Amino acid sequence: MNALSPIRRPINVRLATPRGFCAGVDRAIQIVERAIEKFGAPVYVRHEIVHNKHVVERLKSMGAVFVQELDECPDDRPVVFSAHGVPKSVPASASARQMLYLDATCPLVSKVHVEAERHHAAGRHILLIGHAGHPEVVGTMGQLPEGAITLVESVEDAERVQRPLSEDGAEQPLAYATQTTLSMDDTAEILKTLKARFPELPDPHKEDICYATTNRQEAVKVLADGCDLVLVVGSPNSSNSVRLVEVALRAGARDARLVDDASQVDWSWFDGVSTVGITAGASAPEPLIQGVIAAIGERFDVTMTNDPGERETVTFKLPRALTT
Ligand code: SF4
Repeated sequence: MNALSPIRRPINVRLATPRGFCAGVDRAIQIVERAIEKFGAPVYVRHEIVHNKHVVERLKSMGAVFVQELDECPDDRPVVFSAHGVPKSVPASASARQMLYLDATCPLVSKVHVEAERHHAAGRHILLIGHAGHPEVVGTMGQLPEGAITLVESVEDAERVQRPLSEDGAEQPLAYATQTTLSMDDTAEILKTLKARFPELPDPHKEDICYATTNRQEAVKVLADGCDLVLVVGSPNSSNSVRLVEVALRAGARDARLVDDASQVDWSWFDGVSTVGITAGASAPEPLIQGVIAAIGERFDVTMTNDPGERETVTFKLPRALTT
């Protein structure tokens, strides 16, 4: 630094481990990329493949066309279903139209679908803990006939929900399932309430919150302890990213903010901050995280540390249609 350069204020930057992409997101993005490579553009994608606007924009530039519903796709082009899963009626309509479809549903979401079917076949009514309208919840509820699943969004819902009666008037046995990207602590509270009312329900450790959500929430709890500010890189419609902000605040961070990228950082958040923690939701690409770190480096004299954390080794196979 020469004599005329402004002296930058020192700041500690702590990076959470793990952060960013999970195996399900990585697989879903690869499915769209490989489909474009194999079949040429355009490849249609029903719903945002993963909830990240940068990922969606990059795939659009490669030839992906994002639509809300299958009837917006022509019969003769491939269509990819998003990582969040789809109601059964969607692949059924694609098959009826003899469309080539590739299912990018995360295998951990598919596991919840299979479990839900198993409970239904055994005559159990399912209480699904999740957020109304989230595509994963829509997809899971759409695995079974209407009325087979009741959505429970909060402790208040858990206090109110009633056990349905079967056709012969007998009380139906219950089971539960959860959205994969919920807050572990909120879900534990809801399950405690349900279990107190319906003791037959299995123990709460059997929820379906996935490894990636669990690891990122555990890591942000450690990060938040000792950080004045936590920045979570992720899009506002990404459930697991929004949960990371909530978990950071509850774990003691003085402030926590969600940013899609460096351009969304409001530098007034840094007033009085000596340690900033950085993490990212499961659908946020690493270059965006590095962009935030670089932007901090342009304004502050940064001392970086990487928090130790769980090393993830999970990978999921691509559909056979793309590997043969
Ligand atoms: Fe799969 Fe979990 Fe990633 Fe969702 S957050 S895509 S369930 S691994």
